[in-house]
Amino acid sequence: MGTQKLLIAIDGPAGVGKSSAGKAVALKYGLSFLSTGEMYRCLGWKALQLGLPLDDDERVCAAAKAINWGFERLPDSSLKILIDGVYLGDKLLADDIGQAASKTSALPKARAVITEKQKQMALEGGLVMEGRDIGTIIAPFAKVKIYLTATAEVRAERRVLQLKEKGQSANYDELLASIKARDERDSNRKTAPLKPAADAVIIDTSALNLERVILKITELVDERSL
Ligand code: C5P
Repeated sequence: MGTQKLLIAIDGPAGVGKSSAGKAVALKYGLSFLSTGEMYRCLGWKALQLGLPLDDDERVCAAAKAINWGFERLPDSSLKILIDGVYLGDKLLADDIGQAASKTSALPKARAVITEKQKQMALEGGLVMEGRDIGTIIAPFAKVKIYLTATAEVRAERRVLQLKEKGQSANYDELLASIKARDERDSNRKTAPLKPAADAVIIDTSALNLERVILKITELVDERSL
């Protein structure tokens, strides 16, 4: 199979398991895994660092343009993202960064800057890209488009486990409220709202474990990319 330039798009809401499944799929096919949400989290982090109002498109756009991105492939297939030479890692998981990402990613001009960068990377291929608008905007040409979904409650439970595993504190009710707030904002924004591409395969992961999700995706990849 010619996987050299293969591009797999995985979209869906927060906490649905896109990264865990995406990394495993990328490893299997020798691709790199890119979390586009992490790039928006980096932008949110930078806006907070600079003390910018999170609704000021002009200033957040200028900050986005000034970012010097770096990408390094890790053994688990994921691309480690460096913003202006800095690796933020687990700091990006903080809820205030998630909210800042959700707010700044809804600003049309700032978003266009990040979108452009991601489109270039998609054209180069050899990637599993995970996000909200990969199948619809970033890579409408992708042969394999997956849209993962799960109830907000299941996603909040998974986030609690994920944070606990990393030794961070987690409150289910707060996380559930935060997930619902982000869903609402991500789905209803004018620019690139969260929605499945018309030709995406929708997988509800509420009652599936990670192995089953990975299996479903790899079956689809094998079917589509032969
Ligand atoms: O996926 P993650 O939760 O890390 O994304 C953080 C935020 O970045 C999302 O809530 C969403 O607002 C934004 N995002 C986006 N487009 C993407 C990926 C993430 O707008 N492709």
